[in-house]
Amino acid sequence: MPSCNEMKKGEVYACGECGLELKVVKECKDAAENAETCACCGEEDICCDITCCGEPLVIKK
Ligand SMILES: [Zn+2]
Repeated sequence: MPSCNEMKKGEVYACGECGLELKVVKECKDAAENAETCACCGEEDICCDITCCGEPLVIKK
């Protein structure tokens, strides 16, 4: 399951339930001055998981 720090520019993530597809156009590490400060990744347990329909999105090859 993707967290924002693992999602790379150009990758497409899909929801297996509804068919939604999301493409990464900008990585958080490129936007933040310091990726270490990414607000959702201060603690691993609560690092952001990108979900849809209650399921984690999966990378589309
Ligand atoms: Zn969905």
